[in-house]
Amino acid sequence: MLIVQKYGGTSVGSPERIRAVAARVARARRRGDDLVVVVSAMGHTTDELVTLAGRVTGHERPQNAHAREMDMLLTAGERIASALLTMAIREEGLEARSFTGSQAAIITDTRHTAARIREIRGDRVRQALAEGCVAIVAGFQGVSVEKEITTLGRGGSDTSAVALAAALKADRCEIFTDVDGVFTADPRRVPGARVIRRISHPEMLEMAASGAQVMHPRAVDIGARFGVDIRVLSSFIDNDDPERGTLITSSKAGMEETVLTGLASQKGQSKLVLRGMPAGMGPVSEVMRALASADVSVDMVNEASDGDGRIQLQVTVDDGDAEKARGVLRDLAQRLGAGELEERHGLARIAMVGTGMTDRPGVYARAYRALFEAGVEVHGVSTSAISITVLVDGAHENDALRAIHQCFHMGEEAETQTVAER
Ligand code: ASP
Ligand code: MG
Repeated sequence: MLIVQKYGGTSVGSPERIRAVAARVARARRRGDDLVVVVSAMGHTTDELVTLAGRVTGHERPQNAHAREMDMLLTAGERIASALLTMAIREEGLEARSFTGSQAAIITDTRHTAARIREIRGDRVRQALAEGCVAIVAGFQGVSVEKEITTLGRGGSDTSAVALAAALKADRCEIFTDVDGVFTADPRRVPGARVIRRISHPEMLEMAASGAQVMHPRAVDIGARFGVDIRVLSSFIDNDDPERGTLITSSKAGMEETVLTGLASQKGQSKLVLRGMPAGMGPVSEVMRALASADVSVDMVNEASDGDGRIQLQVTVDDGDAEKARGVLRDLAQRLGAGELEERHGLARIAMVGTGMTDRPGVYARAYRALFEAGVEVHGVSTSAISITVLVDGAHENDALRAIHQCFHMGEEAETQTVAER
């Protein structure tokens, strides 16, 4: 069996942790499996390197002025971790060899600091495996079609691992982290949240894109497209049970039959309401176009009547984009003869995710009642086939999560939830 394992920054955050990972790798290897191990930089190395570059250059975001050199700098973090882990595995008495992303021939496009993988050749990794070596690959990095060193964007080691698993047709892809798996909700916010045992790729993608920190959305997307089953589990538990943690899979078998699979939330959302807009598709599409050309990414869009044949247009954006959005909307308001602009900042976006809500009426009604009873006001809603997202005041984030989690009995294993409530 070929297993790709990935270890995050905290899992290799100290010499002791690196030795613990080496011991785990050695146990798996001694069971007879072939292993490719992807590592992140130790602890906060990447953040520290970014800070260092900022101090040297005086730029708050040095990646804007020095994208190429930032990639040279940041890839060093993963290179250090992979060399050290390889030494530790060799000390366990196993053959092991480390590779940079470039040596593993992870070929990317040319976008420094945000490159996308085009192809993985992986010849040297295959060669190492054929020679009975454990192959350790530095995560988060590749080499561009123009032979430049690139990085895949922050959190990109997950992507390296899943892409390698796809390219090498691995039997398993295991993402080791500092939590026990993917939770029904952030356990720091929702007491009683539990580990989800199985979740589909689309559900996980929605969770990751909505603020669940455990996995990078692009890694999940690659898993979905190439049918890679991904297991998320803790490296801090000395237990080799292959069924622990969360399995992200495309197979429907054994999927929990619940309405909601998980909740995720994100702070820092703004809602802007432009009142008295002329009705019709023309003005609205003009607003959307103007926001897009200002590079403002819009989350929710709603229209409501504002009387007198006029409408109010509501858009939500990241707090960080609110100023740009305000500028754009003010300009347009003048040109279109629209009225006031109202704003609300510091909102939280709560995503309720679950394929179980498809074709099931009343999910929104139930959630809404729970929020109402918890005294949480809803400032906006958007839905997809497998999610409902509501916008609430930032101060109500935890209340909202807890109310929904409880109302849908998400803390109970699926089998023990009553059939009516499922
Ligand atoms: N070390 C990189 C980061 O901190 C990549 C990763 O950890 O996935 O963003
Ligand atoms: Mg990570």
